[in-house]
Amino acid sequence: MKKITIIGSGFSSLSAACYMAKAGYDVTIYEKNETVGGRARQLKTDGFTFDMGPTFYWMPDVFDDFFADFGKKTSDYYELIRLNPGYEIYFGKEDSIPVSANLEEIYQTFEKHEKGSSIYLKKFLKSAEYNYRVAMDKVVYKPGKSPLELIMPATALRVMQFFTSISSTIRKNIKNEKLRQILEFPVIFLGAKPSQTPQFYCFMNYADMVLGTWHIRGGMFELVKGMQTLAESLGVKVQTNSPIDSIVVENNLATGIVVNGKTISTDLVISGADYHHTELLLEEKFRNYSEKYWQKKVFAPSALLFYVGFNRKIDKVSHHTLFFDTDFTLHAEKIYDTPEWPDKPLFYASFPSKTDDQLSPEGTEAGIFLIPIAPGLNDTEEIREHYFEQIMQRMELITNQPIKDAVIFKRSYSVTDFVKDYHAYKGNAYGLSNIITQTAFLKPKMMNKRVKNMFYTGQLTVPGPGVPPTIISGKIVSELAINS
Ligand SMILES: Cc1cc2nc3c(=O)[nH]c(=O)nc-3n(C[C@H](O)[C@H](O)[C@H](O)COP(=O)(O)OP(=O)(O)OC[C@H]3O[C@@H](n4cnc5c(N)ncnc54)[C@H](O)[C@@H]3O)c2cc1C
Repeated sequence: MKKITIIGSGFSSLSAACYMAKAGYDVTIYEKNETVGGRARQLKTDGFTFDMGPTFYWMPDVFDDFFADFGKKTSDYYELIRLNPGYEIYFGKEDSIPVSANLEEIYQTFEKHEKGSSIYLKKFLKSAEYNYRVAMDKVVYKPGKSPLELIMPATALRVMQFFTSISSTIRKNIKNEKLRQILEFPVIFLGAKPSQTPQFYCFMNYADMVLGTWHIRGGMFELVKGMQTLAESLGVKVQTNSPIDSIVVENNLATGIVVNGKTISTDLVISGADYHHTELLLEEKFRNYSEKYWQKKVFAPSALLFYVGFNRKIDKVSHHTLFFDTDFTLHAEKIYDTPEWPDKPLFYASFPSKTDDQLSPEGTEAGIFLIPIAPGLNDTEEIREHYFEQIMQRMELITNQPIKDAVIFKRSYSVTDFVKDYHAYKGNAYGLSNIITQTAFLKPKMMNKRVKNMFYTGQLTVPGPGVPPTIISGKIVSELAINS
């Protein structure tokens, strides 16, 4: 039986491993860290449980489709809860808009803030639904080999949407600044400014307002565990604490990997580790891209995160709460144009224990805070502390209540941790920005041009960053590998 090496155990690797094992190969995952899940690892301490990476479970159909490919259902592995509100956005002191799980209520909220805006929203979501179907049925499962993959009647009808930004479309039709920000929020997940994200990506608004925001009981790590259980039931072997130091190439074929100083033979390699790092495991002459190539790429943000335990429940916040009380244009400039620490960044806060009592001891709250920042910044303890103080102060002011005195536990995580833990280029959190010049066939290729049995998957390849896209990426790469 052919021996397949999978590098890393993020969602793309777990997904690829399942498909390769189902196709009858002898699959082993090698993960450098002591636990699986990659950026979706879990931190458990002092009775609190934190998802260290993803917290938004969007596009439930992608997860359903993945498990269905193996004759399974998501409910075989975890329980889903639809959040209501999906999330809440603060714009200033005691001034917030919860985005309901009920579409009629969203229309009413829009009408309340701008007369007639719900009529536009209905039209916008209809177009977003069309794009979602085109994206899911015809685009995102393509391997990004050639521009021809995108040329078809369904996309031809939408061609102009690739050359207009989502921001300009929204701002032309909606005047209320808060409503504009609600509609621009979902594309921030794509790791670029809304003003640089093609309008076609409005399918993210359909994912948000129609398909909804979900929570897995126990946290996102239950998905990791579910995928690992499925993989192992298909025969996949998972080896943690096993960093791959190099890939052995002979006659333009990967024939071995070096793990903890030991050479292990292989017939094919699929890497779900960060693309730039994977290339460093190969001799320079076998790499797809040069250092110059990576330096020119526009990366999605890194992040400054805090995992915080509070000794009481926190009021006036939702499971997912966004603090948009500052100017995102200025913040975005510091992420994308002149990379430096922002003065007053917007930030995201998640309190999963509002929904799920498994995640913190009774009567307490688990909080996760995230500030998007430029990759590559210097992140000293002092800088991290400065932003923690700022977050606490702004939250207290905006929600008009004491909060900081309830902190009993805190851990920060930022650029240097992403580099150390995941070998992330410049400590990026979300891979490459989904701008037009880095979309589909313009993303780093899944196949090595010189080493015939070497493949790349994950958030730096197609279709891009996010949990659903990386699961899809694992499926695409396995099809390429099986047919190679
Ligand atoms: C803070 C944060 C919040 C996020 N929020 C969301 C969200 O709410 N919703 C959403 O959908 N997405 C979210 N994302 C994005 C999503 O989590 C990622 O796109 C996805 O998890 C990436 O998966 P991956 O398989 O590409 O890579 P990774 O998860 O990075 O996995 C790569 C693995 O390779 C391992 N590795 C690296 N080098 C080696 C080596 N030499 N040998 C062996 N192993 C190696 C790493 O340790 C790692 O485990 C978030 C990401 C972050 C960081």
